[in-house]
Amino acid sequence: MSKIGYIFGPVPSRRLGYSLGIDAIPFKTCTLNCIYCQLGRTAQTTLLRKEYVKAKKIVKEVKIALSSGKTIDYLTFSGSGEPTLNSKIGEMIREIKEFTSIPVAVITNGTLLALKEVREDLRFADLVIPSLDAANQKTFEKINRPFPSLRIEEIIRGMIEFRKIFSGKLYLEIMLVREVNDSPPELHLLKEAVEKINPDKVQLNTPVRPPAESWIRRVEREQLEKIKELLGEKAEIIAEFKRKETRAYLKNIEEEIYALLLRRPVTRQEISATLGLHINEIVKYLEILEKEGKIKAEEYAGEKYFQGKE
Ligand code: SF4
Repeated sequence: MSKIGYIFGPVPSRRLGYSLGIDAIPFKTCTLNCIYCQLGRTAQTTLLRKEYVKAKKIVKEVKIALSSGKTIDYLTFSGSGEPTLNSKIGEMIREIKEFTSIPVAVITNGTLLALKEVREDLRFADLVIPSLDAANQKTFEKINRPFPSLRIEEIIRGMIEFRKIFSGKLYLEIMLVREVNDSPPELHLLKEAVEKINPDKVQLNTPVRPPAESWIRRVEREQLEKIKELLGEKAEIIAEFKRKETRAYLKNIEEEIYALLLRRPVTRQEISATLGLHINEIVKYLEILEKEGKIKAEEYAGEKYFQGKE
């Protein structure tokens, strides 16, 4: 595993095999402030699209990463914010596709698919995975706490339009939170929206990592199975209730993080900066250390701090 500036991995994942992550957005620059976000709260949601990270830099780093000769199944725009907020995402996808045949994926919260220019930007990708956690405005506001002007019906309409022009694969991800979006009326509305959007797959998830809000509860496996039945044959469960050992998981990194946390309380960003690892990787190690009871997390002035226990 390596990290060169805005590129991280390749990280093995169930959905994408060995995925090289491309992070084209500063930490938690997002249109949403989801209650389940594993990166903590969004300080201020935004709709401002701009070249947060220079497209040239990203393309150059992708080239360097590809020259390492490591197995890479997907080049994936994801990371620690909403990737479509980078106004050059379309240009980056097109340029990358000029020098590699490795498929390009975009993991997005889907909100900006309401905009024609974003639909045009993403149409050159091979796989797009947008999220849709609610099909009515009230629940959308409760679970995703969006930028105030975002309207879920416009987002769903955007996804329907995108499906019409996009010839790649479209997987819709639904994050289910107990007693927030798992009631029969909510699921019925989601099912209607899914049928209109017509994705290739519907991927059901539930928060299994420490979320932004400690009160949220996951949906248990049995209930997820019922929801999968309801949503039909395209639906599958992707929530990983048990951590699988992967080649990306390294004991010495866990030990380094633990040693750092024994010295003083630190935030995820500080761990990331100190150890030169991407924040998405740090989150996985913190989850394991928390489960093992080796660390504790506390909030101070809106920031989450992690500290090691002797
Ligand atoms: S889960 Fe994704 S979309 Fe939601 S706040 Fe976090 S980064 Fe943004």
